[in-house]
Amino acid sequence: MSSGAAEVLVAILEFWHCWKNAERESLVTRLFTLEENERMSCRKCRKKLNYPEQSSYGIVMAADSIRDLKCGLGYIEFVDIFKVIRMECKMLCDIKTGGCGITNFIHHIISKCPPIFTIVLEWEKSETEKEIYETTMALDWEIDFSRLYEGLEPKTNYRLVSMDVGNWKSVVRFCGERKIRPEILFYEVVRAMA
Ligand SMILES: [Zn+2]
Repeated sequence: MSSGAAEVLVAILEFWHCWKNAERESLVTRLFTLEENERMSCRKCRKKLNYPEQSSYGIVMAADSIRDLKCGLGYIEFVDIFKVIRMECKMLCDIKTGGCGITNFIHHIISKCPPIFTIVLEWEKSETEKEIYETTMALDWEIDFSRLYEGLEPKTNYRLVSMDVGNWKSVVRFCGERKIRPEILFYEVVRAMA
């Protein structure tokens, strides 16, 4: 994570982690830590590369990239915006390790999906009301993470819990009118009713 909001969030979670209390430490891990494997399967030479498992507290996305895609493509769901942004990150099928030298998309496989998934939005400092409105409008209050990561059951839905979501449209309007830039979005897994 690299934005200001992300740094604050990581600092809080790390601080919480540092408390010499085994129960609390496991609570941070249990609630927020995402474990992910990245894998490349070369579409040309079929070489496969697995990258070491990575742990994180979520992901950072640039608000202007979200807004540009939403404005450019019109009707597009947030998961698809997420996918398009992530597709820009590619891996080289490295000649040094016997590969063919072309770039490939990366597969993202989740090995541990936390109950809370955190998305940090990175804002420039000078967005207009209209731009804030357009960015928040691109977000969805419910996301199916199985469309973003492999290794999850179909319809692994998460819902936004960090804002008081009564009516999503009114939240979007409120953020635009008051120039509120949502920076940290907590999505909580929707538990199936037993
Ligand atoms: Zn290759």
